[in-house]
Amino acid sequence: MVELATPTTIEELRALAGSGRLIAGGTDILVQMRDGRDEPSLIDVSNIADGAPAVVITAGVAELSAMAPISAIVSGLAGRLPAVAASARLFGSLQIRNRATFGGNLANASPAADMVPPLVAAAAHVVVEGPGGSRQVPVAELATGPGRTALGPDEWISLIRVPLPEGEDGFLKLGGRSAMAISIVSLAWRWSRDEDGALRGVRLALGAVAPTVVRAPGAEAALEGRAPSDDVVVAAVEALRGDIAPIDDVRASAWYRREVAGDLLREALET
Ligand SMILES: Cc1cc2nc3c(=O)[nH]c(=O)nc-3n(C[C@H](O)[C@H](O)[C@H](O)COP(=O)(O)OP(=O)(O)OC[C@H]3O[C@@H](n4cnc5c(N)ncnc54)[C@H](O)[C@@H]3O)c2cc1C
Repeated sequence: MVELATPTTIEELRALAGSGRLIAGGTDILVQMRDGRDEPSLIDVSNIADGAPAVVITAGVAELSAMAPISAIVSGLAGRLPAVAASARLFGSLQIRNRATFGGNLANASPAADMVPPLVAAAAHVVVEGPGGSRQVPVAELATGPGRTALGPDEWISLIRVPLPEGEDGFLKLGGRSAMAISIVSLAWRWSRDEDGALRGVRLALGAVAPTVVRAPGAEAALEGRAPSDDVVVAAVEALRGDIAPIDDVRASAWYRREVAGDLLREALET
C-alpha cells in the first residue's frame, strides 16, 4: 500500500517536504516501482504547476518550470533554446512528453538523461527549494553519480534558469532506434563564430559516456579560437574521444560509444 499526498500549492508542498518521495510525471519512478523499488509514501507534485507559466523569458534568460510537462516547455519556448527543443523533440513519445518533466529528468540522474546535456552546455542553473529557503545549483553539479544528486531529502527543483544562446547551439543523439530509445551517446554544444569563422565560447556536454553528463575540455580547447577546418575537426574529434570514459553495457560497447561521440561532434561542426 502506497500513501499518496497531493499538494496543490508550494506552501502545502513545503509542509510535506521530506515525508515521502516526489512523483511528477511518474515516467521513471513508476517504472522503478514496478521493478521492485519500495516507496511507501509519494508526494505528487503534478498539480502544482497548473496555471503557472511553463516558461518565462527575462533579460536573456529562460526560466523553465521544473514541474511542467516537457511538451508545455517546448511550446512556451517558441524556438528560443534550439538545443533544448531539439532534445525534447527526440524525447520518448508524445504521451511521455505530456507527462515527463525537466525536474524528474534531472533528479532521476541517469547518465543518459536527454534534457541534461543541452542544459550543461548552456551553463544553466537549477533553483532548489526546501523548508529552509532556496539555493541555486549549476546543472553540471546536480547529479553526483547514477541515480544520485546533490538534493537533500526535503528539497525539490522548482525552476531551471537557462541563458539564451548568443551564437549557435544544438543537440544530437544516437539511440538504438530513431524514437523511444535511451541514448547510446548524446552531444549538446554551444559556441559563437567570429567574422573569420573562428569558434568562441565553445561548450560541449555529452550524455551516456560517463557516470554523469560531462563536458569535454580537450575538445573544447581544440576548437576554441579556431575555424573548424578539416585539421581542426580531426584534432577535436580525437581530443573528444580522449575526454570521455564510457563503459560497456547492454546497449553498446565503450569502443562504439567513443566512435559515435566523435562522429556526433563532426556532424555538429559540419551542420
Ligand atoms: C517509454 C519511455 C520513454 C522515455 N524516453 C526518454 C528519453 O527519450 N529521454 C530521456 O532522457 N528519458 C526518457 N524516459 C525517462 C523519463 O521519461 C524521464 O527521465 C522523465 O523526464 C522523468 O520525469 P518525470 O516527471 O516522469 O519523473 P518521475 O518519474 O515523476 O520522477 C523521477 C525522479 O525525480 C524525482 N523528482 C521528480 N520531480 C522532481 C522535482 N521537481 N524536484 C526534485 N525531484 C524530483 C522523483 O522523486 C524521482 O526520484 C523515458 C521513459 C519512458 C517510460
